[in-house]
Amino acid sequence: MNDYYAVLGVSRNASQEEIKKAYRRQARKLHPDVNPGADAEEEFKGVSQAYEVLSDPEKRQSFDMGADPFATGAGAGGAGQGFSFSDVMDAFFGAGATAGGRGPRARVQRGQDALVRLDLDLSKAVFGSEEELVIDTATGCSTCGGDGAQPGTGRQTCPICQGRGEVQQVQRSFLGQVMTSRPCVNCQGFGSTLTDPCHECSGDGRVRMRRTLKLKVPAGVDTGTRIQLTGEGEVGPGNGPAGDVYVEIKVANHDTYTRRGDDLHATVPLPMAAAALGTSMKLTTFDGMQDLEIRAGTQTGEVMTLRGLGVTHLRHGGRGDLHVHANVLTPTKVTDEQAELLRQFATLRGEERPEGRLQPNKGLFGKIRDALKDK
Ligand SMILES: [Zn+2]
Ligand SMILES: [Zn+2]
Repeated sequence: MNDYYAVLGVSRNASQEEIKKAYRRQARKLHPDVNPGADAEEEFKGVSQAYEVLSDPEKRQSFDMGADPFATGAGAGGAGQGFSFSDVMDAFFGAGATAGGRGPRARVQRGQDALVRLDLDLSKAVFGSEEELVIDTATGCSTCGGDGAQPGTGRQTCPICQGRGEVQQVQRSFLGQVMTSRPCVNCQGFGSTLTDPCHECSGDGRVRMRRTLKLKVPAGVDTGTRIQLTGEGEVGPGNGPAGDVYVEIKVANHDTYTRRGDDLHATVPLPMAAAALGTSMKLTTFDGMQDLEIRAGTQTGEVMTLRGLGVTHLRHGGRGDLHVHANVLTPTKVTDEQAELLRQFATLRGEERPEGRLQPNKGLFGKIRDALKDK
């Protein structure tokens, strides 16, 4: 039994692409028109057989299991006669290059899918929202009912291709002259033409229309989330089934809140004295005013967490947290009286002349750095 993998010089787990490449390489070298040697013709037949088997997933599988489609009596055609010319041409010119067997193109086709972008405020991503989307799309033509023919008129068989939808061409290649076929230009491959195309849609069976789509945006979406609206896309040619609309969400940056996963982060400025003495304040959140307790001695970078005030988890409900980062403000302008009080304060604490000692790379500033690295 022939080892077709060895004949083509590919490994047993070669991809279709590798098999095709190997075949092309061998065929170029061995084709009888190029290589007149007596052995070359036999060898060319051999690599063509190998290619026919290995390029066909079914035949390849049965070969892998020990059957040889070209062994005497096996399979259609028997030894060497199962050689399929169209497989060979497909390897060189791509599938569809060879003539015959497909007939005219269907007039009715599925509409294309569309991708639209939706800009969303962060608050809507937190809670979800109802949105309206205006899309420009194709719908079935009511004048001709999607048929494309002006009412009362019909179609005629294309005189160029005689209804086949394709015309044959002679293509030159190293294999000699080869008949290939191309879609007929006169009828766009349909095989027939309209005697009088619909005046409304010019024969397409569709008209452009502006439509408003209602869209329920689930809580928890993020930039890049896609929502599929099945069948809301354009109607296909000839009133074919509608495609889908995909809505890709883009969540706008917020002035004060930053999202990391489903947690929200914000920074609250704290006057130096309030940070030292502790206080409570009202904070505006997506859930309205919330009380925030500032403990005495709060440092810059310290994080206060408000549980469950973050973004809703898209898949399983529940919500992330809101993390409030403290930013202690040193006064930049002080009056003479305030300066005097601060001097007295420093004296009381023995801090008139602080030591110039550097602190180790951990603790508070390490925490800030880690928080920034987070996600
Ligand atoms: Zn029409
Ligand atoms: Zn035609």
